[in-house]
Amino acid sequence: MPDKLTSSEPASAAATEAPQPGSAARKIYPIVKYGDPILEKPGAAVKQFDAELEELAEDMFASMYAAQGVGLAAPQIGKSLRLAVVDVTGGKNPEAKIVLANPEIIHAEGEVREEEGCLSIPGFRGYVLRPQFVTIKAQNAKGETFEIRGENLLARAFCHEIDHLNGVLFLQHLSMLKRDLIKRKIKKLRKQGEW
Ligand SMILES: [Zn+2]
Repeated sequence: MPDKLTSSEPASAAATEAPQPGSAARKIYPIVKYGDPILEKPGAAVKQFDAELEELAEDMFASMYAAQGVGLAAPQIGKSLRLAVVDVTGGKNPEAKIVLANPEIIHAEGEVREEEGCLSIPGFRGYVLRPQFVTIKAQNAKGETFEIRGENLLARAFCHEIDHLNGVLFLQHLSMLKRDLIKRKIKKLRKQGEW
């Protein structure tokens, strides 16, 4: 989600090549977990729009599908770049694949409080207030500027991913009580070598 707007299992720990029908073998990146400082720093603007960037975006889609997420931001695969991919159909509709380079919210409307999760914070979810509709402006993998409007889950995914590019995690939108509870649990998991 939102990396993980829907519940899923943590990604595998090692990068592997996963051949997909009808396309080149894709690199499946391991997902960086909460605690890695790269998740809490703003990414650098994407400036180079070339074949390498298109490959990276496709590898990000493959990595996101492998982790059963609906959105993935470059910092989550260890790259501090303002690049994210979103597909709220989970790969069912190729037309739903959205590459967001240097995205920004230009309009937001309404409010929806829904449960949200994150591929980088597996196993934890919380209610986050997000706009019901957002319009964002971004560039695609070729560098072409476009605007897109999202509603509900798609709006939430846009906001969640743009947050990632600003070094913000959904935990920051939770109450301090809930946030601290999750942080304590993660600390415990880390001590047990399970994070
Ligand atoms: Zn996330």
